[in-house]
Amino acid sequence: MIVTEQQQLVSALRQVLPEGTFYPLHEPYFSGNEKKYVDECIDTGWVSSVGAFVDRFEKDLENFTSGKKAILTVNGTAALHAAYQLVGVKPGDEVLMPALTFVATAAAATYLQASPHFVDSEEITMGVCPVKLRAYLQSTTKIENRECVNIKTGRVIRALVVMHVFGHPCQLDELKQVCDDFHLKMVEDAAEALGSYYKGQHVGLLGDVATLSFNGNKTITTGGGGAIITNNIELGDRAKHLTTTAKKPHAYEYEHDEIGFNYRMPNINAALGCAQLEQLPDFLKAKRVLHQRYTDALKTVDGISLINEPEQCQSNYWLQALRLQDADIEQRKAIIEDLNREGIMCRPIWQLIANAKPYQHFPRADLTTAQLLEAQVVNIPSGVALSHEQ
Ligand SMILES: *Cc1c(COP(=O)(O)O)cnc(C)c1O
Repeated sequence: MIVTEQQQLVSALRQVLPEGTFYPLHEPYFSGNEKKYVDECIDTGWVSSVGAFVDRFEKDLENFTSGKKAILTVNGTAALHAAYQLVGVKPGDEVLMPALTFVATAAAATYLQASPHFVDSEEITMGVCPVKLRAYLQSTTKIENRECVNIKTGRVIRALVVMHVFGHPCQLDELKQVCDDFHLKMVEDAAEALGSYYKGQHVGLLGDVATLSFNGNKTITTGGGGAIITNNIELGDRAKHLTTTAKKPHAYEYEHDEIGFNYRMPNINAALGCAQLEQLPDFLKAKRVLHQRYTDALKTVDGISLINEPEQCQSNYWLQALRLQDADIEQRKAIIEDLNREGIMCRPIWQLIANAKPYQHFPRADLTTAQLLEAQVVNIPSGVALSHEQ
């Protein structure tokens, strides 16, 4: 990447960004009933693990996604931990997942003494590549008693986790077909994808179960928080039970019928969530406006393109992402340092989790495309404030 291209990039981004000196990657945006609802929690004393906002936020999420069940949790990582257990991941199992993801996807599998098993991504969606996955499973696994067994390790591969990178839906129909053919459960890590649609349907409802995150840097936030969503009512009911200490419903007796988690979102966080969700349609509009502005401004910059939503999909454009064509890790580093010096915060896509120290010994497929994306994808400022009409 030559110096003039870097200068072209900085001035293109400056055309889009409003007046200012520092642009964070993604900051929370509170312009609705947040204070009112949080005050209500404090005034009534209902700040903790039960309260009307928890029930309301779950209902509101069900309505927004058209999913049959939404269960709130303390964060997205906890939601993943519970989701993996809900689909039957057991100690000693393997769980297929992209190497190109946030660390929580992999960490949650190890909480159950299962092994992450890393697979490659494809360039358009940046999600798991269904074609490569199918070929890989055909040559490395066998089916025994309706279970998929890794021939090399002898372990059962229980599930595939897919992740919608920066809100761009991955190839869900094709991936689901692979899961059906190889007796795998499908979990969607939709932490980044609230408000993203695949062939007209909200993501997270095609697999067995999906998870969301409401961390401070996500499209909407509850401070910290997450959710499990599913169209499987029985699994949804089990999710509620498992994440709320597995206590049997009773007015005063404490009876727990299995080992559960204390993963329920507090009411004060859910209050924030209700207020944020009211504004989500507005936020999504602002994000599309920002995407269009970046697209127009970047037309004149050689060697750099903005990543678009895949065909037949609607992305929430959580984080806007540049693809630096032909760049390697060193060139990427130069660009990131340059933009950050200008007050334009940008970040590389994640380091391949398969190469992070605690995960180096886990099984993996060929990761060529994931490596390429790792070297060439950079996020730029994406917050709602950058394009929202006051
Ligand atoms: C944000 C995120 C999570 C969960 O994050 P929490 O901070 O635990 O809410 C999980 N997976 C992905 C891909 C994420 O981006």
